[in-house]
Amino acid sequence: MKAQVFRGVNQLSYEEVPIPPLAPDEVLVQVRVVGLCQSDIKKIRYPLYEPPRIFGHETAGVIAQVGDAVTGWQVGQRVVVMHHIPCMHCAYCLNDNFSMCDVYKNITTTAGFAPSGGGFAEYVKVPGHIVQHGGLIPIPDNVSFEQASFVEPTNCCLKAIKKAQVVAGDTVLVTGAGPIGLMFIMLLKYFGARTLATDLLPSRIQKALSVGAEAAFDAREPELTSKIQAITGGMGVDTTLLAVPSDKAFFQALDCTRKGGKILFFAEFPDQVEIPINPNILYRREIDLMGSYSSSYRVQSLAIDIVFNQRIDVDALISDRYPLQNLPDAVEKACAPTPETYKILIYPSLASN
Ligand SMILES: [Zn+2]
Ligand SMILES: [Zn+2]
Repeated sequence: MKAQVFRGVNQLSYEEVPIPPLAPDEVLVQVRVVGLCQSDIKKIRYPLYEPPRIFGHETAGVIAQVGDAVTGWQVGQRVVVMHHIPCMHCAYCLNDNFSMCDVYKNITTTAGFAPSGGGFAEYVKVPGHIVQHGGLIPIPDNVSFEQASFVEPTNCCLKAIKKAQVVAGDTVLVTGAGPIGLMFIMLLKYFGARTLATDLLPSRIQKALSVGAEAAFDAREPELTSKIQAITGGMGVDTTLLAVPSDKAFFQALDCTRKGGKILFFAEFPDQVEIPINPNILYRREIDLMGSYSSSYRVQSLAIDIVFNQRIDVDALISDRYPLQNLPDAVEKACAPTPETYKILIYPSLASN
């Protein structure tokens, strides 16, 4: 089969690799669509992982083969593949902190080499642990593979919204209106929150408004804080979700978030970035800082409901479609987005035709 193999920083190589052999409890999925995630881009562009590896984890496809011991799954079934499933019995899992679980963190879905997701290939192997514990999700007939590939990123966004305890009527500032920021805006609207957004690109500011933001601003706007104060009756927003790794965005968040409010780090910053902060700002204004990484088992059924029952319009987030062969171009595009670049999807099947 064909796969995009990570051979070193910024080196993707489109290669023929063996289809992974199945153990009796495993399932092989033919990848139809895989979303290009910001985390994939980081893994490709920075020296975070030893090559060779095959990344890609927002995978939707068709079961191509089932191991002899697998029950309940048949060849031909359309499925979403989750690459992380927690153990459900360690101290982290028992505290609903699934993304810190060692079993969860240890990625096991693979298209070959050290397991790393495996979605950037024609076939991905799903281990028994994931098959048996909810990591294969059947896709209803009326849901496209493209739509289904949004279950994982939707879960990650939902987890952050739940962690920040956003409720209907809250006002939330989303900094960054890329694919994740836009998804936040859609979800917040669905939950009945008022959303304000910032970005640097005029097209993304417009897009934020079109998917449900009540107001959206250029992040460089000098009057940003006073405008947001005005919209919120002088209070500031209840919560800010940082969907860009920018220290400027963080300081704006401090200015725009109300006393007793919350600021949640969703975007991963480059490791060398440090943010100096006077702790009394947090103490006197009782601002809570929090982080949210990856997905949560607890919101999985909600993520499935939202995507499969089209409670948000994930199709509106898709801007570009690339064959697997051209994954390097897709990465390039995601790093230097044109005004119309949002979510990029990758198609192994286009490559093999
Ligand atoms: Zn992702
Ligand atoms: Zn665990």
